[in-house]
Amino acid sequence: MTEPTVCVECGRPPPKASKLNKKGVCVLCAFRHAREAAEQLRAHSGPYYEKWKQAMQAKIGRLERVLENYVILETGIPARLHFTDHTIQARTVTDPLTGAPTKRNVLVFEVDRVGVREVTAKYSIMAEKHAGQFAPYLPDKSYKNYDFVITKTGEGFRTSWSLQVIPR
Ligand SMILES: [Zn+2]
Repeated sequence: MTEPTVCVECGRPPPKASKLNKKGVCVLCAFRHAREAAEQLRAHSGPYYEKWKQAMQAKIGRLERVLENYVILETGIPARLHFTDHTIQARTVTDPLTGAPTKRNVLVFEVDRVGVREVTAKYSIMAEKHAGQFAPYLPDKSYKNYDFVITKTGEGFRTSWSLQVIPR
């Protein structure tokens, strides 16, 4: 196998005393990438930032996650949440069967604690059977007096949530 001799990006041979990297990119282009990546991370936008964000999300995937200020439960991993307030919001979502836009009510809790961590986040509940588990606590917002340990099991239509209610 012959080594490529010019950079796959700029088409020039690598500068003296340097080699193309494994991806066939010269040091000048690699530096430019690094600078662009740093700029995008600072600006919170761009393809490098998106890639970085995905990598970060995958890395912390096994813990209770707070992404974009939303608590995301991992299947099979209990998360202990405390709620301070709630709203019921109408959202337009895509029906997974028909692909048609459809209106759904979403129960959204304000979360100030996930496990031992203080957070400012939301826990958004679209599934009626999961929202129903909190119905007794909604009228007087008595959920404030409890921690809820929520364990999600199953996937898709078979998803269910077990709830352990712990007085504070
Ligand atoms: Zn190059």
